[in-house]
Amino acid sequence: MTDRAANEENHAFPHPPVYRFTSGIYQDYQALERASKDLLKQHYPRYSRFGTPMTDAVEHEITRLEGGYGSLSTCSGLAAITSVLMTFLRPGDHILLTRTVYEPVHRFVSTFLHQLGITATFLTSAEFSHCDDYLTDKTRLIYIESPSSNIFEVTDIGAVAVQARQKGIMTVMDNTWSTPVLFNPLQHGIDVVIHSASKYLAGHSDAVVGIITTTEQYYAPIRQYLMNAGICAGGEESSSLYKGLKTLTTRLKNQRETAHRLIAFLLAHPAVETVISPHLTSHPDHETYRKYYQYSNGLFSFSVRNTSSTRRDAFLSQFRTVKLAYGWGGVDSCLIPFTPSYTSNDDPEWLFFRVSVGLEDGDILIAEFSSALSKL
Ligand SMILES: *Cc1c(COP(=O)(O)O)cnc(C)c1O
Repeated sequence: MTDRAANEENHAFPHPPVYRFTSGIYQDYQALERASKDLLKQHYPRYSRFGTPMTDAVEHEITRLEGGYGSLSTCSGLAAITSVLMTFLRPGDHILLTRTVYEPVHRFVSTFLHQLGITATFLTSAEFSHCDDYLTDKTRLIYIESPSSNIFEVTDIGAVAVQARQKGIMTVMDNTWSTPVLFNPLQHGIDVVIHSASKYLAGHSDAVVGIITTTEQYYAPIRQYLMNAGICAGGEESSSLYKGLKTLTTRLKNQRETAHRLIAFLLAHPAVETVISPHLTSHPDHETYRKYYQYSNGLFSFSVRNTSSTRRDAFLSQFRTVKLAYGWGGVDSCLIPFTPSYTSNDDPEWLFFRVSVGLEDGDILIAEFSSALSKL
């Protein structure tokens, strides 16, 4: 089938097909030659590691949602992050990062980047508002995750972008919490945006996949890195992501509303010590959040007094609908214990849990939390 016939046929179906292939087939020598010369996204070499009709469709849609120049798919959110860092950092460089960044990023920076002679300073959201104070003449890149993992520190993105641009330092943001529906970093001066699409974007806990969206300046270097390092996304995962995007806004709205109900219940419960969400006025970064956000998502954390491991286990054993699981952003509610990374060691007094609200009926979730909390 010619390209045109394939394209025309695709218009008759709601989803792009998943082509299963390694090498694509060229019609003639000229087509082959054209592809081998164009390493960007026009006539790229027909080998599925360099892209497929499915990854192209996903990238096109995320680019539209984020308002960027182009997007690039990776096999995971973490691979998207490490690829961007590896594309631009060189021995001797210094970077600034969010203190409460997704933990594997912290580990990558303090092990592998450290071995390459790249130094890092981790900042709180408050420190980021005067990040000028932490820049050195070696600072090459600023990496922000906001709202950050588990405790949702919100960084003043606009303030950081202005300071970085003045000094010619590139900015990278992990926008996984927000999805392109709640916040678009490129519109606030950020250069490169990363999503773990494994969370809300794919949204059904069935795919690990990542995506990078950039301004024009940074697109080609990242594309070159991914092609040379062999980092790509699978067709099935990209297909899950493509379908997930169609319901993203509706899922987020529903999950946010249920989360608000559950948060109100927890705030009124005597066994609950704190609820952590940037949407609450009690959150230290609530004002910064208000500056950039209209809506939150279905994610929040809470703490209870740690009376005994027996009671903790009894508490957890009450959950049926809510699963004990690390992932978040799916249609199934789940919770996971965590240790806030700003305390040095396990604080024995409090137990912290992060909750990701799914699409179940809110009454069922509240009933489950109610019965679990009665065991504490
Ligand atoms: C899960 C997560 C990642 C990593 O994504 P994977 O797709 O699991 O590799 C990166 N950043 C944040 C904020 C995450 O929650």
